[in-house]
Amino acid sequence: MNSRRDFLQKLGLSALALQLAPLSGWAAGADNVEPPYDGPLLRVAILGLGGYGTMVAEAMRKCTKAKLVGVVSGTPSKVKAWQSKYGIPEKNCYNYENFDNIKNNPDIDAVYVITPNGLHHDFVIRTAAAGKHAICEKPMAVNAQEGQAMVDACKKANVKLLVGYRMHFEPKTLEVIRMRQSGEFGKIRFFQGQCGFTIGDPTQWRLNKKLAGGGSMMDIGIYAINGARYMTGEEPIWVTAQETKTDPVKFKEGVDETIQFQFGFPSGAVASCLSTYNMNNLDRFFLDGEKGFAEMQPSTGYGPIRGRTHLGELNLPVTTHQTVQMDEMSEIIFNNKKPVVPVNGEEAVKDLKIIDAIYLAVKTGKKVEVSL
Ligand code: NAD
Repeated sequence: MNSRRDFLQKLGLSALALQLAPLSGWAAGADNVEPPYDGPLLRVAILGLGGYGTMVAEAMRKCTKAKLVGVVSGTPSKVKAWQSKYGIPEKNCYNYENFDNIKNNPDIDAVYVITPNGLHHDFVIRTAAAGKHAICEKPMAVNAQEGQAMVDACKKANVKLLVGYRMHFEPKTLEVIRMRQSGEFGKIRFFQGQCGFTIGDPTQWRLNKKLAGGGSMMDIGIYAINGARYMTGEEPIWVTAQETKTDPVKFKEGVDETIQFQFGFPSGAVASCLSTYNMNNLDRFFLDGEKGFAEMQPSTGYGPIRGRTHLGELNLPVTTHQTVQMDEMSEIIFNNKKPVVPVNGEEAVKDLKIIDAIYLAVKTGKKVEVSL
């Protein structure tokens, strides 16, 4: 068996294979078709029925190891609509007031929190207190202290805390990680991550400090931070950062518009990244080693992700990120499966510590040491 197929199997071949059934070339070539899944189904309630919650719900239709069975929302009309769309029974519907009663519901295993960032902490703490596994969107919290409290609460309640890092299950991303781990790029010297888009409506929660926790860095810059870590395989030891603000009305105090930031890694490798709410066409990762390089563009969008290396184009399956993510999370929760790149609360706290350091570097203009 070649190393790529071996690697894909480690990612969870069944989840990928199911999605790829229409891609006859790949499916027909598979010499390892698994029998239908008959293990436990991760029964999930989505909390926060907005844009991304809807995307996750739609993607979960194709899951084999996870199923959407419940909803938590402050809007009764949305609950009704989701009930009929996804066949959700009345007994699995909650609002934000009676949500804690979910502890008495044996038919729900996990709650997936997909609200504005500033609400993640409280909802995850309540999920843990109800004895349910918590899945939380990124950024997991608005600072590392809150994030650590979430990790501690889930540990105390003996439930898992996972974060919606969907790129950690994306085939081309994982192939670049495999190549880096096997030394195909040689010693890594440089990473560049550019993440951003032009944000619209000035009244949306993403531009509200209390609900968003910050600006572009919290929302989109986090992909460059997380990507710098999984692409290089190292943790930064220092951070420098500079902020540019062209619209102080839209991007009020504490809501960053554009931040450029740099990392230093223990090996001597460096990273140069940009996070913005004021430029389009920015979704690119570049990893440079002594023997080769990888370029991903788009690198973190919903797909298809494109990638090439010094050896040529990466030809790997296009997946629905959230379908694979939820099937893999089922394996992590029930079977303690270890993903190639962690998606647990501790992993998210590392990103939040780096975000805290970036904001401090912007404020002080100084190089900030990081210890993860
Ligand atoms: P959205 O505005 O579309 O949805 C937010 C939901 O939260 C809505 O249903 C809203 O009613 C609800 N909500 C509850 N309390 C609220 C309050 N006080 N104020 C505003 N809304 C409230 O946002 P979204 O794009 O779905 O983002 C939700 C979360 O998902 C964010 O944390 C975001 O970072 C994350 N997200 C992740 C990805 C990804 O690719 N992993 C993509 C998009 C969003």
